[in-house]
Amino acid sequence: MSDGLIIVVSGPGGVGKSTIVEALVQRDPRLWLSRSWTTRDRRPGESSDAYRFVTREEFQRRIDDGGFLEWTEFIGNLYGTPSPEPPSGSDIVLEIEVDGAQQVKRHHPQALLIFVLPPTREEQRSRLVGRGDADTKVHERLRKAEEEEPVGRALADHVIVNDNLDATIAEMLALISDERARRRR
Ligand code: 5GP
Repeated sequence: MSDGLIIVVSGPGGVGKSTIVEALVQRDPRLWLSRSWTTRDRRPGESSDAYRFVTREEFQRRIDDGGFLEWTEFIGNLYGTPSPEPPSGSDIVLEIEVDGAQQVKRHHPQALLIFVLPPTREEQRSRLVGRGDADTKVHERLRKAEEEEPVGRALADHVIVNDNLDATIAEMLALISDERARRRR
């Protein structure tokens, strides 16, 4: 594993995390985005490299081999970060839910944890519906979001309300740059 920063972006589903992390890695070439494994099915229209989509058996084998930095079960599916192998000199970006963020913080207390919140539950709901999640899934994810919020807030180094995508990205890039400067001191 690199000795660069580990930046954990966490927050409830439908808050725009994937869009945010994609923009971050595009804007800052030193950032390297980890690709997670999941046992959930691909959503209609979802890119085939959004995740490494695997069976439970494949996932379990990797757990047994000790091949995950962290993993968890989230609403009936397994999600995990494979032990990262970023190019040297890179900082790692993880886009994961709160339980995984806790695991990373436990093993890497110096990780920078940014927790992103939606401006309103209604906004979050319409984003979840918009990406094609079934009604029951939307409901479950909103319930899960309420459960995650206090834990995420308590764990986070920074909490950002994503009411403007450009502003959120700019704020995160600034936080990352401050953190790099702080580590150099
Ligand atoms: P989704 O099914 O919406 O893609 O993801 C569900 C949740 O799992 C999101 O909060 C997402 O950030 C999180 N997630 C994605 N990859 C990982 C991972 O590798 N580990 C953990 N712990 N959570 C992940």
